[in-house]
Amino acid sequence: MTSSGTSPGERVPTAVSNHGDHGLPTSSGWRLDGSPRPAYRSGTNDRIRSSGGTATSELAVVEGIHVSTDHWIGGERIASLDRWTDLSPIDEQLIAEVARGGTTEIRAAVGAAREAFGGWGSTQPKRRSEILHRVADGIEARVSELATVETRDNGSLLRSMRNSVMPRVARNFRSFADRLLELEGEADASYNGHAERVTWDPSGVTAVVTPWNAPLMLATWRIAPALAAGNTVVFKPPEWAPLTASLFADITRDAGLPDGVFNVVQGIGEEAGAALVGDPGVARVAFTGSVATGRLVAQAAAANLTPVSLELGGKSPFVIFADADREASLAQAVNQFDNAGQVCLAGTRLLIESSIYDEFVGRLIETSRALVQGDPRSESTDLGPLITREHFERVDGFVRRAVTDGARLATGGGPNEDLGGLYYRPTVFVDAPEGSEILTQEVFGPVLTAQRFDSEDDAVALANATDYGLAAIVYAGDPERAQRVAERLVAGTVWVNCFFVRELNAPFGGSRNSGIGREGGVWSFDFSADVKNVVTAPSERSD
Ligand code: NAD
Repeated sequence: MTSSGTSPGERVPTAVSNHGDHGLPTSSGWRLDGSPRPAYRSGTNDRIRSSGGTATSELAVVEGIHVSTDHWIGGERIASLDRWTDLSPIDEQLIAEVARGGTTEIRAAVGAAREAFGGWGSTQPKRRSEILHRVADGIEARVSELATVETRDNGSLLRSMRNSVMPRVARNFRSFADRLLELEGEADASYNGHAERVTWDPSGVTAVVTPWNAPLMLATWRIAPALAAGNTVVFKPPEWAPLTASLFADITRDAGLPDGVFNVVQGIGEEAGAALVGDPGVARVAFTGSVATGRLVAQAAAANLTPVSLELGGKSPFVIFADADREASLAQAVNQFDNAGQVCLAGTRLLIESSIYDEFVGRLIETSRALVQGDPRSESTDLGPLITREHFERVDGFVRRAVTDGARLATGGGPNEDLGGLYYRPTVFVDAPEGSEILTQEVFGPVLTAQRFDSEDDAVALANATDYGLAAIVYAGDPERAQRVAERLVAGTVWVNCFFVRELNAPFGGSRNSGIGREGGVWSFDFSADVKNVVTAPSERSD
């Protein structure tokens, strides 16, 4: 029992206020839309089952922390009759029943965001910046709570959540709040005596749809620049890890963000997500997720000619030359199992120079076997669970097909029988046939492949042999060779003798199928804003 007298996972009905600024009924026990909801991936998705239960506004209690499971629209908590069950990957236990929004909730949220746009868009940048810094303060004050809830919800390591992920969430806000104030006058120029002044005018409502593998970090990477640019936001959180979005809404309220500037509609991708990205009231669509969904999102946005920014999947190469620092490159290779391999940027294709291949792979196998797998809340754990049963089966399907295709399993290759549940052993494949699925398609689990190469040309050809282009890693002792290779790789980000280090003002995004557009610093403002050039003739007046 918690201090509030509730048990973990227990739902706490709350009263919902009764004012209807959006013309919506807002008392508990209602639903916005009387129509039946379509079944979602019935039979395949273990975590999404409509409870079909009572329509109440509710709080979940997650490890003693109260989290609203409702939408956040126009500064109010809004319930839905339909709810889905949110299970924890740690033990597959129910942690919340979350409001299942659809077209009606999306319309209400986009309406609220459009209404709030006039005020927020015309708020002076300095004031916007101050409020965004207050949001960052609120995040920093609640790092522990956010980390606890996110770990319970998506199974990521608690220590990473506390020490790096949640502090980065705050930095997302500080970075764009500061960059906003530097924009003024940045691109001003003159031509034939005419002054040219560039402004980044707010464009309207930004729709944000993001995935579950680092839910709050990925979401705020899109939300912060949109708000900084003067846009208002409707956010549809990932249905496999929806809870920190709700805590974050509380933080924006406490920071003084005006009602309607930031809205959350909880729901399923094919329902609330599709309704949001296809809504004609939306001015920008910021989507992070898989290539397959990215295509659907781009199609929906195209119907309204809404600009999209897509940050999609990857199958990144990790090139290791014989003269690279052996210990550092080995440690970094094993590090690709971070978050149980559920990392878009992960360098899962290890390309190793022939002269060190056997020794390197031998040590990789040994080190992978020594990783500690278990409860992500334990300090000693290296590798937690996969997110859902559905995803677990997907990862296992890749592994089984790789074996059938002729790849040789060097270690792992199945569930961790000692732990049961959603824990999948770190897996390494060698000798996979060229062009086979395991070498070309994103698994998004703890699965690495090792391939050998004999020359720089070989390494580059293998590295570029997929349809993805999100990131690449090069470890080499010769700095000139490292730069030569980096120049030839098709990727939005190439890390040389390092990984994951990135200044938030630097451009980030994917080439080929890994995305459309770049985010970070001024690139984010270019996407969010209506960039305008005011050209003024030289003054004729002499006084
Ligand atoms: P996903 O594409 O299944 O879902 C992403 C989001 O889209 C979710 O919120 C989901 O509800 C929503 N969605 C699903 N169908 C939709 C539809 N028809 N219309 C609108 N929204 C819809 O991806 P996922 O499984 O949640 O995440 C894993 C993928 O995300 C991987 O491919 C990974 O590489 C990628 N990813 C990319 C980055 C990046 O920065 N490039 C970062 C993290 C993850």
